[in-house]
Amino acid sequence: MTSHGALDVEGKHVTVAGLGVSGISAARALAGLGASVTVVDGGSGELHKERAAALEADGISVRLGDAETLPDATSLVVTSPGWKPSSPLFAAAAEAGVDVVGDVEIAWLLRGPNAAPWLAITGTNGKTTTTQMLASILRAAGLRTAAVGNIGTPIVDVVLEGDDAYDVLAVELSSYQLHWAPSLRAHSAAVLNLAPDHLDWHGSMEAYAADKGRIYEGNQIACVYNVADKATEDLVVEADVDEGCRAIGFTLGTPGPSELGVVEGLLVDRAFVENRQKNAQELAEVADVNPPAPHNIANALAAAALARAYGVQPAAVREGLRAFRPDAHRISHVEDVAGVSYVDDSKATNTHAAEASLAAYESIVWIAGGLAKGATFDELVQKSAKRLRGAVLIGADRALIAEALRRHAPNVPVVDLERTDTGAMSAAVREAARLAQPGDTVLMAPACASMDMFVNYNKRGEAFAEAVRALAAETA
Ligand code: ADP
Repeated sequence: MTSHGALDVEGKHVTVAGLGVSGISAARALAGLGASVTVVDGGSGELHKERAAALEADGISVRLGDAETLPDATSLVVTSPGWKPSSPLFAAAAEAGVDVVGDVEIAWLLRGPNAAPWLAITGTNGKTTTTQMLASILRAAGLRTAAVGNIGTPIVDVVLEGDDAYDVLAVELSSYQLHWAPSLRAHSAAVLNLAPDHLDWHGSMEAYAADKGRIYEGNQIACVYNVADKATEDLVVEADVDEGCRAIGFTLGTPGPSELGVVEGLLVDRAFVENRQKNAQELAEVADVNPPAPHNIANALAAAALARAYGVQPAAVREGLRAFRPDAHRISHVEDVAGVSYVDDSKATNTHAAEASLAAYESIVWIAGGLAKGATFDELVQKSAKRLRGAVLIGADRALIAEALRRHAPNVPVVDLERTDTGAMSAAVREAARLAQPGDTVLMAPACASMDMFVNYNKRGEAFAEAVRALAAETA
């Protein structure tokens, strides 16, 4: 076992909320540190029972079917990301004067004195992409690193590998994780953007922004913000940072001093250079960013800013961006059929993400719809109307999008698909093909969650890709 920092749980009763991936990892880590652990979960299905049996075999107690009452003698509660702050278990903890923390807090407290620093990333959209870009840049610089946090291996497991396992970590943090991580102090951090999302969890936009803003608390070298999104800069101004920590902006325009930006097709750094009033350093070409859509160039600039804050050389930024491959269903080009390009952005599950991908193409047949999660579509349609050749609507809440299109894009032809069975995606692709002209892009960026028709956004993306390939086979 490695040194385990400031966390002393030996002999204490710790309650872990939630029998998911992060709960299981936290439970095992805490038990390994000598805590007496009880995992509680409201569910009691087969999967729960299987997981419970595996933990119990290792001496960890599990209580199924009751997510609300606090087990006796609990001295610390560790939450999982899905649990709302308003959950009764946390009210019970507050009443008993017991602290509630998340897996990121546990990981942070488990770090030893020589642990790898964290370069942290949050934002409403682009977190995973930016974190992976950053890890790719750090690897290109010859550093031992991993993309962790809200992606991949649970962060507690990574920290338990020991202080020597990594030089630096690229850490994706959700607003939920930040909410429950009061001690976290990153080397440098970025908030990519801030748009209303998950408000049912946080209670209000103010509470959501405040949780995102915690990522800047105690930063040592750089607070990276989005020049085009003033809310992110406001969070930097409000943060209590280390003496000498700098505010670094990123912009798709020409960068000012202490900013990274774009000049004549180049990503340039006017922050981490000598004499930044006069000098700028070329980092990469826009064409090195994959895909080179505007929002993704912004992601690349944010990743580059964090890498540069850590001292990475310009050549590694270029090499890391070139080596980066986006995950599936994030603006991935499926195929060209009859001169029309078909693009899967199933991960665009909210209007802010869909707006970014619609901005990346000139003439679009848009496939949209699903579960709106309380969103409105007027602003999205207004901003994108001039790019729309047509729209095909699917899913439970498609009427909301249809109404926005009627109001703000009355001349755009709309096909309203009443079917919500899974085969509806194939019908949607056919309708889109009918509306599209050579040179157009058929873009599936639904602006909605997928669960009304699909298991998740992956399955929705796969259904789209399959339908496109079937169309290509018939057309060939
Ligand atoms: P997250 O991890 O924050 O959910 P991802 O990197 O997985 O973000 O991207 C999710 C979706 O958000 C993408 O499919 C794309 O449509 C959109 N997106 C990515 N980066 C940005 C950005 N900087 N601004 C707006 N939308 C973005």
